[in-house]
Amino acid sequence: MARIVMKFGGTSMAGTERIRRVANLVRKQAAGGNQVAVVVSAMAGETDRLVNFCREANPLYDPAEYDVVVASGEQVTSGLLALTLQSLGCDARSWLGWQLPVRTIEAHAKARVEAIDGEALTSAMEAGQIAVIPGFQGVSEDGRITTMGRGGSDTSAVAIAAAVQADRCDIYTDVDGVYTTDPRIVAKARKLKAVTYEEMLELASVGAKVLQTRSVGLAMKEGVRVQVLSSFVGDDAIPADELPGTMIVSEEEMNILVEKGEMERQHVTGIAHDKNEAKIILTRVPDKPGAVAHIFDPLAKAAINVDMIIQNVGRDKGETDVTFTVPQADLARAQALLEDKRDDIGFNRLITDSKIAKISVVGVGMKSHAGVASTMFKALADRGINIQAITTSEIKVSVLIDEDETELAVRVLHTAYGLDANDEAA
Ligand code: ASP
Ligand code: MG
Repeated sequence: MARIVMKFGGTSMAGTERIRRVANLVRKQAAGGNQVAVVVSAMAGETDRLVNFCREANPLYDPAEYDVVVASGEQVTSGLLALTLQSLGCDARSWLGWQLPVRTIEAHAKARVEAIDGEALTSAMEAGQIAVIPGFQGVSEDGRITTMGRGGSDTSAVAIAAAVQADRCDIYTDVDGVYTTDPRIVAKARKLKAVTYEEMLELASVGAKVLQTRSVGLAMKEGVRVQVLSSFVGDDAIPADELPGTMIVSEEEMNILVEKGEMERQHVTGIAHDKNEAKIILTRVPDKPGAVAHIFDPLAKAAINVDMIIQNVGRDKGETDVTFTVPQADLARAQALLEDKRDDIGFNRLITDSKIAKISVVGVGMKSHAGVASTMFKALADRGINIQAITTSEIKVSVLIDEDETELAVRVLHTAYGLDANDEAA
């Protein structure tokens, strides 16, 4: 017997027919003698629809009322799943965020889980009842509904798993696991049997869309065992308990898998791409102490995340160019803020470019292996792909390139690091 949290994303919950398939998967887990809690997303597209209503009603919407509106999508699917489970003869009930409660702190629309009282859930599960919980929503200290940012149901699921000390948190989605790269770009992409928390955190933050980044950080902190797997499977599918998906594990656990020969030791584990950033170049900024601070201070105050930064070598006359990236959605705002501070900063021209992509290679293997970055630069150079900026961390190298070359770059790198499916079979 195990205690399991199952989470289903929007495509798995899109319509009563799909909810019935989900209910069958849930029933199977419960029938296997497991204690089960289920966390659900709104139906695919529903949250976007609700966000649009808010924008139409009031472009400068109050985030607290926005939360009231957008949290409703998950309320609908949690009730529908409980109803469907009941129709299959299961004992099931829904638990809304305020009923558990899922306490959150911080701003509306981007709340963070502070504490979840797992007691009611635990006793319901122990009594054999299936608990259905709407993801994405919580309740603030003053009793108002909050939501956790887009994609937040993943984080809800991990937080619930931590609160009830679940043996596993299974995240069911429309793909059957985490791949070495986007299989729509590289047909030879391979599904990974396991990936470390750190790697998944980096992959999620640089564009691999399987999990909300925050959920991975939380899982790492709380030591929650997470599996990513598909809900679109036939009756003869390998049961979730036999781990058909991708397990997200600690580095220690990964080392054990490698020793047992279940995982190969790679320098690079995965390649991600992100087309949602935009580049800003400020030319002829004074090359003196404090100049860069003048640029980034207003952006930080406006909560605009700056990602890659390069300051070119100084030109003559003590001037330099500064290049950096921001999320595309924040480009207009960033541009306005910088124009506003033109005199303080003292730049000459402000040039923007949204037709860029960030390509990242990620792997814990690079901690102990030199040459990963140079392999990347050479592979791209051989195909005539120009690199506009570079950043690195201990387990990641990211480059900025022309957006039109995204697919080519991903393919070339996948081959260069020996990740293509055939290479493994050799
Ligand atoms: N429904 C919410 C969203 O689309 C939360 C989620 O699905 O994770 O962002
Ligand atoms: Mg999602």
